[in-house]
Amino acid sequence: MRETKIILSEKEIPKKWYNIMADMPNLPRPPLHPQTKQPVGPDDLKAIFPMSLIEQEVSQERWIEIPEEVLRIYSLWRPSPLHRAYRLEEALKTPAKIYYKYEGVSPAGSHKPNTAVAQAYYNKKEGIKRIATETGAGQWGSAMALAGSLFGIDVTVYMVKVSYNQKPYRRIAMETWGAKVYASPSEVTEAGRRILKEEPDNPGSLGIAISEAVEDAATHSDTNYSLGSVLNHVLLHQTVIGLEAKRQFEVVGDYPDIIIGCCGGGSNLAGVSFPFLQDKINGKDLRVIAVEPQSCPTLTKGEFRYDFGDTAGLTPLLMMYTLGHDFIPPGIHAGGLRYHADAPLVCQLYHDGLIEARAYPQTAVFEAAIQFAKAEGIIPAPETAHAIKAVIDEANLCKEEGKEKTILFNLSGHGILDLQAYADYLDGKLEDYEYPEEKIKEALAKLPEV
Ligand SMILES: *Cc1c(COP(=O)(O)O)cnc(C)c1O
Repeated sequence: MRETKIILSEKEIPKKWYNIMADMPNLPRPPLHPQTKQPVGPDDLKAIFPMSLIEQEVSQERWIEIPEEVLRIYSLWRPSPLHRAYRLEEALKTPAKIYYKYEGVSPAGSHKPNTAVAQAYYNKKEGIKRIATETGAGQWGSAMALAGSLFGIDVTVYMVKVSYNQKPYRRIAMETWGAKVYASPSEVTEAGRRILKEEPDNPGSLGIAISEAVEDAATHSDTNYSLGSVLNHVLLHQTVIGLEAKRQFEVVGDYPDIIIGCCGGGSNLAGVSFPFLQDKINGKDLRVIAVEPQSCPTLTKGEFRYDFGDTAGLTPLLMMYTLGHDFIPPGIHAGGLRYHADAPLVCQLYHDGLIEARAYPQTAVFEAAIQFAKAEGIIPAPETAHAIKAVIDEANLCKEEGKEKTILFNLSGHGILDLQAYADYLDGKLEDYEYPEEKIKEALAKLPEV
């Protein structure tokens, strides 16, 4: 009988995370202080992050031990299955072999708990009682709420107000796991109060929510801040995905020619691909493709330069491909992946030619998602659907060229809490939008010189 799912035992959960900084040809340039423009030191970060995560952020050790307590929590859903997409292959009539790593099996339904759990653990260990964070549609907030409940640490989530009102289910999940959720802008912080005074109906933005969460953490000694993507330590924690996948490919005696991941901040792409990129750096023939929306084309149209991590310009300056920190995706965009830049590690690897990137319009992305759902059953998160569109294109190319390539993609999460986006697509309400070059140039002209 053919095997559809390659399942590892719990004993095979990786015991170490893989740190690509030990192997990459060029390290990313250091983060800079937003005022002095000098490299930031550990002291600049101590007010909002635990020391162990600051150490991971700058570490160049190849392997970093996963604490026993974190492994015990991982075992609630890890190892995640590697699926062979036989039915999709048959539907496409492609000679390509398509595999996907399914991260939707986590309790929050995405890959994000892989880092949320680790971050909750290190904060708790260093005596922190509460974590403040932001969330847009709620994927990160719900991962953090879950992790907080598993480690007995309080979680406060500032959720962008429009999402708070329009997308109640992830908020309810967060509250079920015991988190306190505020609609942002809120009356809880100085930053929130200032905005509400000027504009009581402000719908909120991720930038405002970040400002509120950072202020909350910086003004309470028992509270830290946490981030769900972009930073080096977040990408590090996600490498459990690729490490498991490598082992699963060994079991079936195969190895990917192409690895594909959607790219919002870069954490799930990094997670699935970095352990394989180590082989590529050492000479293996392998392509890694980052997929983004045409309405937020960070890698494909952005510029590689220093920019702020947040809209308000409070965070350190990071060396990234960016559309400018005041970038706002068009209202019509439904597929997530809205961040104005990408993780410095992913950007450096892209700059050095180790990762490729491409962008797709959203109607083609949802069409691919539905083709996948009909063949494989799983309704993917709209974010993930970007990767699926690229997988289908590559599989069709294999058919044209008569090549039997092995394709791996990360199914970063399921879309069962994102059905409104599917409803909008099915009702014909989604339009394609290509973000214009001029607007990017305009936004980039306003960036600080360093
Ligand atoms: C958050 C999220 C993403 C995008 O974030 P990355 O850091 O780029 O991985 C992708 N897929 C799902 C399901 C998510 O929840």
